[in-house]
Amino acid sequence: MSSLFVRTLREDPADAEVASHKWLVRAGYIRRAAPGIYTWLPLGLRVLAKVEAVVREEMDAIGAQEVHFPALLPREPYEATGRWTEYGPNLFRLQDRRGNDMLLAPTHEEMFTLLVGDTYSSYKELPLTLYQIQTKYRDEARPRAGLLRGREFIMKDAYSFDLDDTGLEKSYMAQRGAYQRIFDRLGLEYVIVTATSGAMGGSRSEEFLFPCDIGEDTFVRSPGGYAANVEAVATLPPPPPDPAAVAALPPAVVHDTPNTPTIETLVDVANAEHPRDDGRAWTAADTLKNVVVTYVHPGGERELVVIGMPGDRQLDLKRLEAVAFPAEVEQATEDDLKAHPELVPGYIGPEVLGPNAGQGEDGERTSVRYYLDPRVVDGTAWVTGANEPGRHVFGLVAGRDFTADGVLDVAEVREGDPAPDGSGPLELARGIEIGHIFALGQKYAKALDLKVLDANGKAVTVTMGSYGVGVTRVLACIAEKYSDDAGLAWPVQVAPAHVHVVATGKDQAVFDEAERLAAALEDAGLEVLIDDRPKTSPGVKFADSEILGVPYVLVVGRGLAQGVVEVRTRATGERVELAPDAAVAHLTETVRSALS
Ligand code: ATP
Ligand code: MG
Repeated sequence: MSSLFVRTLREDPADAEVASHKWLVRAGYIRRAAPGIYTWLPLGLRVLAKVEAVVREEMDAIGAQEVHFPALLPREPYEATGRWTEYGPNLFRLQDRRGNDMLLAPTHEEMFTLLVGDTYSSYKELPLTLYQIQTKYRDEARPRAGLLRGREFIMKDAYSFDLDDTGLEKSYMAQRGAYQRIFDRLGLEYVIVTATSGAMGGSRSEEFLFPCDIGEDTFVRSPGGYAANVEAVATLPPPPPDPAAVAALPPAVVHDTPNTPTIETLVDVANAEHPRDDGRAWTAADTLKNVVVTYVHPGGERELVVIGMPGDRQLDLKRLEAVAFPAEVEQATEDDLKAHPELVPGYIGPEVLGPNAGQGEDGERTSVRYYLDPRVVDGTAWVTGANEPGRHVFGLVAGRDFTADGVLDVAEVREGDPAPDGSGPLELARGIEIGHIFALGQKYAKALDLKVLDANGKAVTVTMGSYGVGVTRVLACIAEKYSDDAGLAWPVQVAPAHVHVVATGKDQAVFDEAERLAAALEDAGLEVLIDDRPKTSPGVKFADSEILGVPYVLVVGRGLAQGVVEVRTRATGERVELAPDAAVAHLTETVRSALS
């Protein structure tokens, strides 16, 4: 500690919202260089190396081979797959001195695909899985929480190459198993959830989420074992209503409903002035609300889209973003709305939307695209806007009176909603995405023409998987879980040292004994940090040891005169006094068994 490049901070960094961010900065593991961009200091780098080592060992154990790509790449491969544009503002783009477009890679599917294509040509060379542990760049809209969402971060990304789907399934499951072992070894709980494929394309995909209240991902679980990212939940549509009952439905009527621009006001007026025939009260679930959003397409073109959903549901922006991709979703601006005066705010109804609006003079559709929530099945009747201020239409029947351009399942998923596989009511929880595995299929291989000759000499397109672990995010999750009010409390597997020897007092004999014990621990194969600062008070040394979070603290101080030292366990606060050599033996045993 007398020479280590570290300075613990007594104050929380101003921008720190979460424990991991606060303690990693305060303990001198990382330093902010710019928003979402961090410098690694000696202690931080030691922890990072240990997390990487676990990831590397488990990748090597399943036969994946390590390579290392540059982060700075040419535009062309990303152009070929469409991602130069599709990635939108998240992609760091730049130009070299000759004016060539370059990028800082957000992920490397393209480069791995090209590399394998350049190198392999026969089915005999497959299967193959390559990986790297490498720096990624994404110009995140909201970098936050320190390492949890950075603009520069480290990812382990692996890519599998197989001849067919059976091979892909095997490679996928091998990665899945490796991920389970990685997170087990790192002491992080995880839930494996079904995910949307989003920006990657492809078919099957699962995320590993670390359950945690500060997580940005919401996931659902059912008692019967269904688990999915909320973005990937497919709503169970209600059974279609009885055709005879639908045929008997009365025609829709328009009523004056003054000052009812919200669902709440509409329900009140409906109950007061237009009560139902069956005696039951109108509820928000009887109304069809039409939510307007703007899609911003990769080329920058803005397009209004309207989504109709039961009035008791809210639009879930993340669910919409997942399906809107590569378009980004924004709130509709006044300018966006100017082009469509038929949309009367608060009173929008299906009749001016999508296929219901008829056609312009040249036969071209001029109405905005209109989508419906899966609950709006044909034959259901709704109270919805009549496209005039202060008027609503009652009994408008889906399929009879209006249709849409399609179904968009983007309303929020609620606690208690049925699981799509019938396995019971859903429970909601939050988590942090620490890993993601994708069965990509042939999207990248096709775009970049990755083929090999099969046993009959025929060229076949290779099928791929891609698998990411957020290494720096994982480190932050570990810090999030293994920290308390006083600082970090690392598990032995990733701690920057195993034992923190703290020499207190002014007595030279204490310092000499502390050095001797530290050397004995090192001889036994342990990693030791020794606080040998001669003029620092015991209080400061103890506070520092708590912030730094080395799992075991060996205090050499006053007790030495009576022949004892103290072993403290950082995470539990447990303390035992032992003779110095017994302390070394005890610590050696404890650390070895934790590591085995
Ligand atoms: P998110 O939904 O959190 O933005 P993503 O789905 O875009 O993540 P992937 O493309 O699946 O991320 O990347 C693989 C892994 O890299 C993620 O599972 C996550 O652990 C990590 N990761 C992604 N973005 C970041 C980031 N901005 N900072 C730190 N780690 C990240
Ligand atoms: Mg992901």
